Amino acid sequence: MESGGGGGCGGAKRWGFRPNAAAASAATWSVRGTLNKIRAAVPAGDARVAIPLGNGDPSLFASFRTPAAAEDAVVAAVRSAQFNCYAPAVGIPSARSAIAEYLSRDLPYKLSSDDIFVTGGCTQAVDAVFSILARPGVNILLPMPGFPLYEARSVFSGIDVRYFDLIPEKGWEIDLEAVEALADENTAAMVIINPNNPCGNVFTYQHLAKVAETASKLGIMVIADEVYDHLVFGSNPFVPMGVFGETVPVVTLGSISKRWVVPGWRLGWVAICDPKGILRETKVVDSIASYLNISTDPATFIQGAIPHILENTKEDFFNKIIALLRETADICYNAIKEIECITCPHKPEGSMFVMVKLNISCLEHIHDDVDFCKKLAEEESVIILPGSALGMKNWLRITFAIDPSSLVDGLGRLKSFCRRNAKLRN
Ligand SMILES: *Cc1c(COP(=O)(O)O)cnc(C)c1O
Repeated sequence: MESGGGGGCGGAKRWGFRPNAAAASAATWSVRGTLNKIRAAVPAGDARVAIPLGNGDPSLFASFRTPAAAEDAVVAAVRSAQFNCYAPAVGIPSARSAIAEYLSRDLPYKLSSDDIFVTGGCTQAVDAVFSILARPGVNILLPMPGFPLYEARSVFSGIDVRYFDLIPEKGWEIDLEAVEALADENTAAMVIINPNNPCGNVFTYQHLAKVAETASKLGIMVIADEVYDHLVFGSNPFVPMGVFGETVPVVTLGSISKRWVVPGWRLGWVAICDPKGILRETKVVDSIASYLNISTDPATFIQGAIPHILENTKEDFFNKIIALLRETADICYNAIKEIECITCPHKPEGSMFVMVKLNISCLEHIHDDVDFCKKLAEEESVIILPGSALGMKNWLRITFAIDPSSLVDGLGRLKSFCRRNAKLRN
């Protein structure tokens, strides 16, 4: 072993291991890491329950409980003893074909089971796609605001990140001129999240058509994060990006985490929506299959349950969840209108989130969004994600996907916090 340049401090032993810098900062880039810091500010002595308006996981609220049919499917899969085995790296055949069928319902062509890779939630889907796209010099275009996982994953894989804006005044539509200006010969893909986290908007068919044309012109693929598929309650219907697969190759990422409200079940997918076969020709599909051999699979019994989960969940359940989200989105939007210092540029119409702007200048002794969220947690036991975690300083991301009465409580506390901390006007 090398001896560290000849001498120096005699007794100091030199160890050969050091974590990489990307690992150390993963907590900063993740929603979870940031929320942990905010949550730590909630005082132990507050008799009131803490209100979680930070992350989108309503699974603990009875009103968001997954349907019995889904639970039964998991129990039956475990009891069958058919799924105690390792699964193939790409997923078990029955899961792949059930997911292909589920997604094909909304597409003008049929996906086959070979187009589907079963993953550990949408998170592993991102991991797989970014890992295989990573090569020296490559760059990817990401939305701002976006989902921090994409940036973290890029940095880990050595992919350069370039950001295009979502424009609040245009209902958070993508700045497609910026996309064109950012792309060069080393750009592999652009990422879209629809229905959108964190903005709560839903892209129109026309806008997605323009996204497809732009990406096609630039020679890049579209990575469509549709983890909130069908969770829409405004005037725009959910249109999968795969509808434009004839125009541009689309890699769709999804999971049952949000629509079935079971993020802990860790079942997601990569879907190749590319009827022209460009992603096969360019070996992208083979590479994903190959990469999954050195990655871990979702539990086999969840894969075994998925055909039944997709097939046996009744429309009633989805309608109930949509009605609940519509109600809570309304409560949230209307409450924010009444709060000075916070403005909402666009009423949420999908996903579980809304982005709102903090007018820092009308608050006393509060420096920025992070300070705001820490003091809010301290004084009111309400947890909200500071926009800085998403690259949007002095914005806030609020989730309304919680029980309506808790939401009303949380927004009430937010309002009194703002009133108490507002600058006195002359
Ligand atoms: C929740 C979420 C994910 C991760 O989904 P899992 O299925 O829980 O891994 C990915 N993208 C977005 C935009 C999300 O909100």
